[in-house]
Amino acid sequence: MKVFIENHSFHYEIENLTRVFFPNEKIEIIKARADDEVNGAHIITGRESADDKIRLYCSLEINGEHYENERKLALNSPDDEQERALAIILFDILRAYTGITPPWGILTGVRPIKLFRRLREELGESGASEYFKNKLLVSDEKIRLSALTERNEREILKTSTPDSFSLYVSIPFCPSRCSYCSFVSQSVEKSFKLIEPYAELLCREIEITGKIAKELSLRLQSVYIGGGTPTTLSAEQLRAVMNAVSRSFDMSGCREYTVEAGRPDTVTEEKLRMIKECGADRISINPQTLNDEILKKIGRRHTAREFFTAYETAVKCGFEHINTDLIAGLPDESLNSFKSTLDSIVSLEPKSITVHTLSMKRSSELTYRGAELLRRDIEAAEGMHSYCSELLPKNGYEPYYLYRQSRMVGNLENVGWSKKGSEGLYNVFIMDETHSVLGCGAGATTKLKEANGPYIERIFNYKYSYEYLNGFDEMIRRKDRLRAFYDEYGFKRK
Ligand code: SF4
Repeated sequence: MKVFIENHSFHYEIENLTRVFFPNEKIEIIKARADDEVNGAHIITGRESADDKIRLYCSLEINGEHYENERKLALNSPDDEQERALAIILFDILRAYTGITPPWGILTGVRPIKLFRRLREELGESGASEYFKNKLLVSDEKIRLSALTERNEREILKTSTPDSFSLYVSIPFCPSRCSYCSFVSQSVEKSFKLIEPYAELLCREIEITGKIAKELSLRLQSVYIGGGTPTTLSAEQLRAVMNAVSRSFDMSGCREYTVEAGRPDTVTEEKLRMIKECGADRISINPQTLNDEILKKIGRRHTAREFFTAYETAVKCGFEHINTDLIAGLPDESLNSFKSTLDSIVSLEPKSITVHTLSMKRSSELTYRGAELLRRDIEAAEGMHSYCSELLPKNGYEPYYLYRQSRMVGNLENVGWSKKGSEGLYNVFIMDETHSVLGCGAGATTKLKEANGPYIERIFNYKYSYEYLNGFDEMIRRKDRLRAFYDEYGFKRK
């Protein structure tokens, strides 16, 4: 889809909003010139002065159909108001053409709850809700979800102090690659030889990072070992990584220690016992769906039965906090199939359930195969989230964190639901950018947060495991920045 931009600078917002309605298409943003040849499906968005007003206009040409819309504002209208007005007229046109009304309206950002919090602090909760409704066209259901999530999140945020941090350890390997995956994770078939040297270097990076954290008197609040699928490692390899964590960091104030045991086909009793022994108190076992046909279609090489077995083993090993991840909007999954999955999961009474929405990243195999996101899929995904909002509170779950990614089916959301007191702290800290997160391993990012202000600085590790192995010294050199950062932006060292 070509999108022409005439005389305004709101192209970022316009591109994001167009993508909500055409998630699978290449969006080409063109700064319009008088001699442009305009043909094929396209959108024109523009701004001009007319009769002492600013005139914002939009049109869409597609499949022989033509739509147009405009709005006039006072000449001195601030930029953000103009941007919103242009987004709204584009939204109206795209809604009329597609018949789709995305429930988040024109709100395209990744962290709607952070915005809701800021608005609540300025305008109170009802003012924030009004703003979401009237200025951003967010549906009543999503406003309720935002307000509730923000309230629950707020309680967790209060527990972070300026010297707090969390640790993220990346294991970028999986037993096979799921067709919807866009992470840097590599399948074991392709990278088996790299695992052992990777685990060794990872332990070294953890030790070095722990030393710096101790020097800076930082307090560890939560640990998250994710990926990928950490349980792709053998029990011995994973034990070595977890031992490196506990001997390198002061764990005495650590309030949550999660290991993702994402793929049930990698979970064994030996690994689970070892994970527990090494100090983790929260694990995530993720079926995504309990429909075997869909599991096969999306390239997950496990069955619903294997999920139940892994879950029972985790309970037997004494894990009290088990999280399960599900995905709404998987290709060909019906609303009824999702409902039956959620009903089964709820009957297990996990402490938390995270419901993601399928995100069609460009690099994922599904997109490559050209899977279409039809209105039917969007409606089904919306229905799935609505079912969560209906069923989960009745069973004692509340939403405690929420975020979005680009190209999600229907521009929907990922929501963490939990029983009271079992919220995933790391999830909230990372999403809210509450405190620093020190990252170790390939693809990990260290996010340094100013102790008493909003400034954030990122240090990137190499993305792929082979780069990590080759560029290890350079990555460790980058970690030196931690000391200088805390000297400049941190609290006073002891
Ligand atoms: S388990 Fe997760 S990280 Fe691994 S391939 Fe599947 S979606 Fe990607």
